Amino acid sequence: MSIATVYLVGAGPGHPGLLTLRAVECLRQADLVLYDKLVSPILLEYAPAAAEKRCVTELASHHDERVVPIHDSMIAAARAGRCVVRLKGGDPLVFGRGAEEAEVLREAGIPFEIVPGITAAIGAGAYAGISLTHRNHASAVAFVTGHENPHKPESILDWNALARFPGTLVIYMGMSRIDRIVAALLAEGKDPQTPAAVVQYATLGTQRTLTAPLAELPRRVRDEGFAAPAVIFVSPVVALRDELAWFERRPLFGKRVLVTRPRHQAAELVHRLIDLGAVPFVLPSVEIREIADWAPVDRAIQSLRQTDWLVFTSANGVTAFLGRLEKLGLDLRALGNVRLAAIGPKTSAALQAFHLKPDLVPTRFQSEDLAAALLTQIQPGQRVLLARADRGRDVLRQQLEAHCTVEQIAVYSQVDALEVDDEVMNALRRGEIEYITLTSSNIAKSLLARLDATCRRRIEAREIKLVSISPVTSDTIRELGLPVTAEAKNATTEGVVEALIGIR
Ligand code: SAH
Repeated sequence: MSIATVYLVGAGPGHPGLLTLRAVECLRQADLVLYDKLVSPILLEYAPAAAEKRCVTELASHHDERVVPIHDSMIAAARAGRCVVRLKGGDPLVFGRGAEEAEVLREAGIPFEIVPGITAAIGAGAYAGISLTHRNHASAVAFVTGHENPHKPESILDWNALARFPGTLVIYMGMSRIDRIVAALLAEGKDPQTPAAVVQYATLGTQRTLTAPLAELPRRVRDEGFAAPAVIFVSPVVALRDELAWFERRPLFGKRVLVTRPRHQAAELVHRLIDLGAVPFVLPSVEIREIADWAPVDRAIQSLRQTDWLVFTSANGVTAFLGRLEKLGLDLRALGNVRLAAIGPKTSAALQAFHLKPDLVPTRFQSEDLAAALLTQIQPGQRVLLARADRGRDVLRQQLEAHCTVEQIAVYSQVDALEVDDEVMNALRRGEIEYITLTSSNIAKSLLARLDATCRRRIEAREIKLVSISPVTSDTIRELGLPVTAEAKNATTEGVVEALIGIR
């Protein structure tokens, strides 16, 4: 068995987009990911589903003896030929103990690679609008640990030198000692009026920034409840923040939004929300499964030659149907004489992924609109095949049946999600999530059925606001006795995002 390489990888400051391409390459080949608590769970999705993912912050703490199990796991896994990614917040070599881990690996004869990451200072600077260096205001930058106790004689930091440092100071791990840090800088002659800032949860939708003259910083931190993880900036460049702070002006900045789509389809909305500055939570309400009985689908596939229209009402339907076609040893030529209809852009994109162009997509994306559009095209007596989920509305069939021969087949199964994420549920109960996006009637039914009285009360009081994808979904929500705060103009992900932005 050959020894595998251990990758000491920087995960960046929090925003999942701030991971390097090299880090993604390493994660893709990982068998074991040992990650720190501050690392975003979204990043773990780059690792294979089968890879083992273990959070090791609880073990590490600040005590050396607790680091040993991490070292041992890395070494044991590498010796067993498993590819290990040690994923650390920010950069592994900036207050990350990456050097110690590398040393241990070298001593054990294990090959390693160090993948740099965006360190908190750089992330916080960019996302809070603090230019670490500036031609007119700061010609140097120092990364300083605040974990040192400035009043202890053994402190290795030279506070006198730091007070005179001709540039920007960025202090990590300083929140619990901010009084002493500021006192030490002032005692060594730093101007009490020096602009200073604290940036907490930098690069995330939860980011908070506070600016104050240095002397006032500790009191403001206390009053406004700032805590770790945060970095402290001391520099004239902080004064320029108002002009550069772009992230905090994003339209959904700081808004906490629940995404309820099936996990494999949640990513698009989650990433869009992150881009707009929101804080996404994911609680899948329905799941997609393979159907139990393929026989009706197989029969429908065998009779495609006699079918005039094949109608898809979801991307899942496209993937399931074409997957089955392939499994039966057929290819796209089986669809040669069939005209294709798709209910909306997502379904259409799913067809395009198979190099198929829909002949018909309605201008609005509900069953009624699709039925109306189809009725203008279908000749009397033609044969129409509806490929869909094993549950859902029956509108399409009902509206087409009088005009043509309709066959409806279930190509995938949709079930209520069983997964209960207590963390998300509790956040809802405590009122920490402000918006719930509901992207179909089934999702609305399934989610709302799982909410307890506290959550329902919050929804009724509009402390939690429901955002619906379409009039049909809104009707379902109202039938369940709850108010809809906003409805998408277009029944698409982007429509939901626009509806969210429109809430004032
Ligand atoms: N290796 C990491 C630092 C680890 S030490 C890096 O390069 O960023 C942990 C400290 O990093 C925290 O106490 C805090 O000071 C800082 N930090 C990490 N993530 C942060 C974030 N998202 N926002 C603000 N500070 C952060």
